[in-house]
Formats: sequence, C-alpha cells, structure tokens
Amino acid sequence: MARTDTVGPTGADSPDSTLDHDVLVVGGGAAGLSAATFLARYGLDTLVLARGKSAIQQCAVLENFLGFPVGITPDRFLELGQTQVEYEGGTVREETVERVERVDIEEPPTETGGEPLGSSGFEIESDDGDYRVRYVLAATAYDGEMFEPFIEEIETDEVFGMVDSENGRTPVDGLYAAGWMTTETVHQAIVSAGHGAHAALSLIRDDIAARYWPAVADHYVDWVVHDGRYGGDEAWDDHTREWFENEILVDDVDSGLADAALEHLKSEFLDRQIGTDERTRRDRDGQRALLETMDDDVVSEYAASLGTNDDRN
Ligand SMILES: Cc1cc2nc3c(=O)[nH]c(=O)nc-3n(C[C@H](O)[C@H](O)[C@H](O)COP(=O)(O)OP(=O)(O)OC[C@H]3O[C@@H](n4cnc5c(N)ncnc54)[C@H](O)[C@@H]3O)c2cc1C
Repeated sequence: MARTDTVGPTGADSPDSTLDHDVLVVGGGAAGLSAATFLARYGLDTLVLARGKSAIQQCAVLENFLGFPVGITPDRFLELGQTQVEYEGGTVREETVERVERVDIEEPPTETGGEPLGSSGFEIESDDGDYRVRYVLAATAYDGEMFEPFIEEIETDEVFGMVDSENGRTPVDGLYAAGWMTTETVHQAIVSAGHGAHAALSLIRDDIAARYWPAVADHYVDWVVHDGRYGGDEAWDDHTREWFENEILVDDVDSGLADAALEHLKSEFLDRQIGTDERTRRDRDGQRALLETMDDDVVSEYAASLGTNDDRN
C-alpha cells in the first residue's frame, strides 16, 4: 500500500537526472522517520538509511508519546514509523552510512522550466552501496562522524559536540540535521519527532524557494481536507489569484515562472481534497495498518471478546 497523490516535485524521478534519490535521511529513529514522512509527502524521492539501535530502544515502554494511551514498545513504535514512511512513498533500508561528501552535480531544468536547482549535491558511501543525492538530512543521535568533511563549516555545542542547527538548517548548503544530535531538542522522542518535521519543512521550503522564490515557500502545507473546503475550484481560483498577486508575487519575476508558482500553490491545496467515501476508505486503511502491527494473539483475543460481548446482548 502506498500513496500516489503527493503534489511535490520529482527531481530524481526525471529520466535525465544524475541523482539516485532527491534526499537521503540518515537515521531511523523518531527524528529521521518523522522527517522522511514529511519529505516523501512533499514529493521528494526519499531514501532512509539506518542501521544500529535507536536511543529509544533503551527504553522499556514508551509511555509519553501522544497517541499511544497506555504506551507502546519502542520496536513497535519504530515499525509503525517505517510503515508510515513507506506508505508515503519513501524507501527505508538497513545500511550504515560511512561517508558523506559534497560533489558537483549536473541536473536537467526543473519541471517548472526553470534553472536547475543549484549545482551541488552529496555522494554517500554506505556499507552496502553508493548514492548521489541533492540533500542530506542527518538524524543519527550520537553518531556525528559523517560530518567530518564539514568540520570547518559546522558549528557544535562546546560541551556535548551537538550540531548547532537553526530549525534543522546547518551552515552547509543542502545539509540538514534533526533530533538528538542537534542543540535544538531535549531528550524526549516526541520532541525529536517534532524537530524532524521542522527540519524537513526547512528543507522543503528551501527547495520551493530555489524553484520559485521565498514567498511561495512560506505557504507550504501538506494537509488533506474535506472536498469543497476551499469553496470549489472556481472560487478558489479567484481567491488564490488575488492572494498570489497581493502577497506572494514579487517584482521582476518571469511570467512563465509566476504562472508555474501559482499552479504549484493551487495544486498544493486542491489536489489534497477528498470526499466522504475516500475519507472512509482511508480511515479503514489506517485502522488495518494499525492492526497489522499488533500480535495475532492479541487481535484474536480481542475479536473473541467482541463475540462474547455480542452473545451477552
Ligand atoms: C535509557 C533511555 C530511555 C529513554 N526513554 C525515553 C522515554 O521513555 N520517552 C521518551 O520520549 N524518550 C526517551 N528517551 C529519549 C529518546 O530515546 C530520544 O529522545 C530519541 O530516541 C531521539 O531520537 P533521534 O531520532 O534523534 O535519535 P535515535 O532514536 O537514537 O535515532 C538515531 C538513528 O540513527 C541511526 N544511525 C546512527 N548512525 C548511523 C549511521 N552512520 N548510518 C546509518 N544509521 C545510523 C541509528 O540506527 C538510529 O536509527 C530515552 C533515552 C534513553 C537513552
């Protein structure tokens, strides 16, 4: 099961691309999986490489993460996170990243017809393969070794050596950091998950800004709404055009690029409207996905208890 309705750019999916993926997320804990979920929803071809224990696996039962009212074991929590990344179209592999290096890349023009997005990317060596990507988002908790090549550029906290990022941005163009490894979180999984999302949104906004201009990026959202939320296509069309011209359009923008930016903004909102049937289908799919992570005997026991309750009625 995987979604097909992301509205973002393709990048590495273009046949002329020299990239293997748009973005590599290193680390499969709360921060990395949360970041990857947002990046894949935006439409970037997202690869997660993670090997080794997440810090949360030292905890017996995770009891303070909203949404799990009587707690969840860390393994089940991480499995759910991986399933979510994959559902959104991302790929998760068990590999250790050994080296990250900046390289020049040559990319075809963007799908908006604009200039290629900069000319730098990263080459990654893992214990099982080599990859070329435009962006790297690191969420590796204690392991910051991959930052070695950037040691001159990356600022770290003097005492703990954590990356001094700002909303997940590091001073290295295209390199982001999230979760425990940064100075921006405290040591709770839900805070790391939130920071992973924040770092991913910084990356997404930088990507949109490079394709168009910063004001377009400031409005990025990825929410799904009820059909007709924006008053129907026509009303939304007029509203967006006015909003775009008053608040987003800046001087000296090529008219083709302005049209593309307007279409991008419209689709960001309109392509994620769903009707009642689709909402019901997604709700059921969501419940089934939760059931699949549960132990069969727990599910059977619960189903049997429902039968017993019915007999009593
Ligand atoms: C004993 C203990 C108990 C805890 N209990 C709780 C609790 O009850 N509730 C709570 O909210 N928080 C708890 N925490 C804190 C919680 O574990 C962290 O806040 C959270 O795990 C940080 O998430 P993260 O994604 O930043 O890092 P992590 O979850 O540690 O994830 C790091 C990821 O990076 C991967 N990785 C590292 N290096 C590489 C590499 N070179 N290549 C590929 N992959 C790599 C690892 O395999 C892992 O997947 C506890 C921590 C500890 C130590």
